[in-house]
Amino acid sequence: MNYYSLNGKAPVTSFEVAVTRGIAPDKGLYFPEKISPLPDSFFENIEEMDDHEIAFQAIHQFVAGAIPDDELRAIIKDVLSFDFPIVEIEKNVATLELFHGPTMAFKDVGARFMARCLGYFSKQNENKEDVTVLVATSGDTGGAVARGFLNVDGVDVVILYPSGKVSDIQEKQLTTLGANIAALEVDGVFDDCQSMVKQAFLDESITSERKLTSANSINIARWLPQMFYFMFAYKQAKKHGKELVFSVPSGNFGNICAGMVAYKLGMPVKHFVASVNSNDIVPEFLKSGKYAPKPSVATISNAMDVGDPSNFIRIQQLFDNDFEALSRKLSSYSYSDAETREAMQTVFAETGYVADPHGAVGYLGLKNYLKDHPEAYGIFLETAHPVKFLPVVNEVIDKEIEIPEQIKEVMDKEKVATKIKTYDDLKAYLLM
Ligand SMILES: *Cc1c(COP(=O)(O)O)cnc(C)c1O
Repeated sequence: MNYYSLNGKAPVTSFEVAVTRGIAPDKGLYFPEKISPLPDSFFENIEEMDDHEIAFQAIHQFVAGAIPDDELRAIIKDVLSFDFPIVEIEKNVATLELFHGPTMAFKDVGARFMARCLGYFSKQNENKEDVTVLVATSGDTGGAVARGFLNVDGVDVVILYPSGKVSDIQEKQLTTLGANIAALEVDGVFDDCQSMVKQAFLDESITSERKLTSANSINIARWLPQMFYFMFAYKQAKKHGKELVFSVPSGNFGNICAGMVAYKLGMPVKHFVASVNSNDIVPEFLKSGKYAPKPSVATISNAMDVGDPSNFIRIQQLFDNDFEALSRKLSSYSYSDAETREAMQTVFAETGYVADPHGAVGYLGLKNYLKDHPEAYGIFLETAHPVKFLPVVNEVIDKEIEIPEQIKEVMDKEKVATKIKTYDDLKAYLLM
């Protein structure tokens, strides 16, 4: 499979080059040249396959030519070493729990998959220059990437995060690993981190010295494996015999976009709901037809505080930039922090389920859509374990949340981060 740039001014390239570069030289996002639907039998018999086989079949065409089948199977087996259960919390409303991985964030799968792909490429070519993964995080990406890439040979990781804007647990997860992982604490908001990262990728004085790549959902190896979740959900929910609606708490729109790739591969999905916090660029776009990015605002679902969702352009491409066609398949609703808190409370009071703020936004969007489509079966994605957002959860829900082992482990470790303020600080750090 080859990949082209959505800006149309860069050469078509292989999976390996697209993963290693992250973003195309013309600043465009890479997009697969062709998406061929899987045979009908794949979805008809999906219950008979284990998760590893589903994932292998699903991603095979995207990786073909770059990673041999036996290596790909080994990578998948290693990456998917935990469960993705569906938990029904009300009649016809279920949550897909994506937080059972090592950092309890759904980004674990993408980060681990990408790390292992880069590890494979580096192993293939011993003379290859080391790669530096440069990544901005609004919360959960950092931890998942740090953990996913820890001790991968030939790869260094530099993570930028907004000071004071991520939870304690999130901060610990990205600042305590050491080895090939470095954390930069930025005096600013997520968008500042993101724009510094983007600028570094275009700065020849840096790229001539260090080979940089991204590990945000901009990177195809981080983005594409997320389609597995939707297939695992389909496998579990198919028995209800109803059309499925997915509500995805969205920030950079990588996860929902991967779900739409699953749909393009032939998976039956009635509708997608992009549930967002007060950062309402996409709901506004679906109302007005105008895409108008804005500076992000801080919310309690901080992993979705994004004012210019990078992957939305890929979603538009999946629908051939046809606004009408996209509108038939995608709805998007925005919720305030007050509504999010209230949803966390109601869900807990009525069902006993503890949702994190992101999952609660997903729940709200799903319920809103199901009001007019009561015949469907709805699944909202629970993208982080509630313990990752403990201050909010404790404030809203009167229940002791048990701290899982993988979280306890990092809490006792010491934070190591370098404070930076400006782009020049970042540059100096990278050229040090
Ligand atoms: C990253 C993240 C999201 C948003 O995912 P996108 O792919 O950026 O839309 C939602 N919830 C949590 C907990 C996250 O970490």
